[in-house]
Amino acid sequence: MSELPPCDAFIDGRWVAGSRRFTVRDPFDDAPIAEVTDGDDAHVDAAVAAAARAFPAWKRRPGPERGKLLGQLAARMLSAERRLAELCTRENGKPVTEAIAEVRYAASFLAWFAGEAERSYGETVPATHPTQRLTVIREPVGPCALITPWNFPYAMLTRKLGAALAAGCTVVAKPAEKTPLSALALAQLAETVGIPAGVINIVPSADGARIGGRLCGAPAIRKISFTGSTAVGMILMKNAAADLKRISLELGGNAPFLVLADADLDAAVAGALVAKFRNTGQSCVAANRFIVEAPIAEAFTAKLCAAAARLTVGRGSDPDVDLGPLIDDAGVAKVVRLVADAIARGAKLLLGTPPSGTTRLIAPIVLAGVTPQMQLWREEIFGPVIALRTAADEAEAIAQANDTEYGLVAYVFTRDGARQQRVAEALEAGMVGINEGLVSTAQAPFGGVKHSGLGREGSRHGIDDYTNLKYLATRIA
Ligand code: NAP
Repeated sequence: MSELPPCDAFIDGRWVAGSRRFTVRDPFDDAPIAEVTDGDDAHVDAAVAAAARAFPAWKRRPGPERGKLLGQLAARMLSAERRLAELCTRENGKPVTEAIAEVRYAASFLAWFAGEAERSYGETVPATHPTQRLTVIREPVGPCALITPWNFPYAMLTRKLGAALAAGCTVVAKPAEKTPLSALALAQLAETVGIPAGVINIVPSADGARIGGRLCGAPAIRKISFTGSTAVGMILMKNAAADLKRISLELGGNAPFLVLADADLDAAVAGALVAKFRNTGQSCVAANRFIVEAPIAEAFTAKLCAAAARLTVGRGSDPDVDLGPLIDDAGVAKVVRLVADAIARGAKLLLGTPPSGTTRLIAPIVLAGVTPQMQLWREEIFGPVIALRTAADEAEAIAQANDTEYGLVAYVFTRDGARQQRVAEALEAGMVGINEGLVSTAQAPFGGVKHSGLGREGSRHGIDDYTNLKYLATRIA
């Protein structure tokens, strides 16, 4: 059993308890895991003040020094990966193997931005006047508010934290109510590598709207980075406008997964399993709508059903389990509603049993004959349900794929190189997996278009949102 981190707010390098606590529960059986300080307005204000105080000195620290500390934090995460993974499994429910993969993925952002801290270059610009020299330097925007969801509690935090700290910003993070322990464990590790007090502050809370709202509204906060639902992202953007704060948003998805007639069907099935079932389908990049070109629809569907039927469901700590429980009863109720609606409107159940809502464990479900009127074609399913629709040809497949307000990621399977390029360019998405079911990696820019968000995380671009460009015009004669 994994040991717990301190279960209080982490402010100015100290663990700060509160008068109220909330219970974090195991999604598998609702058993209580920990009682965590329920951050209030005073915690937020103290954390913002600490981040503001720590900012000038952290900003002045040379980039390579900031990078060194980030690199050490990455190394600590990796050496504690088993403990961190088990903690994540307890509060999130995902299988331990997936949790280990998440810890490594999360650490890779810290390692990546450790390097970027050394390479946050400026520019020199040719001037039109011979007596002028023009240079551009990068400056950190200031203290940042980081708000993260429960589905990847380490990685969604480090993807922001790594970039922010590398740029020279300080942060106040508010993790999701369901999964605060992972963030607190990360703060505990940060203490051990000597990241100065006030650079990282964490305020857990059971009242996301209130505490998130207060944090984002604090005048000292100069940038908001949010990962979560589109609905909340829109609220935060409206509020940020009132104070002209920088904001980046990693929001929901409704990913199309195209299998074209010339695809390698075994590769497409392998890609589908990763794209659909990672974290039991509770991922923003989960394949939500499968669009299969008619000539191979039957063959692909048969292979997909056979592979999905082999997946096991159970408690995440059981090493043989492929799919853990859904996060909570609301998540289960959504899947129940979407499957019932699809079947009532004529979808054909090829695999699985319509969930009853009595358990959070849901085995893979495959539905064929799905139409755009069905709710699961329009909404993020966030569960292990495959919705299949056929397309007559490439043009129809692209039109179906783009018929959504979301645009985070799309997947396309085809062996034809020209087709890969043509279809990838036609898809309205921030990322495209071509014969690939897993696009997330620290080196590449992660982010969406349309209602899936603004800004990019990871890659050399990930630091941009945390820096202001300052231009210096120097007269030399
Ligand atoms: P959510 O309800 O939007 O919550 C996300 C975070 O925002 C949580 O910390 C939450 O706190 C907080 N929050 C809720 N209401 C708020 C408000 N009014 N003001 C400020 N903060 C507020 O999303 P979720 O259900 O946790 O996460 C699932 C969603 O995240 C899905 O739509 C998924 O696609 C998306 N996601 C996107 C990406 C990406 O990179 N694009 C990655 C992962 C997930 P509480 O937990 O206390 O409510």
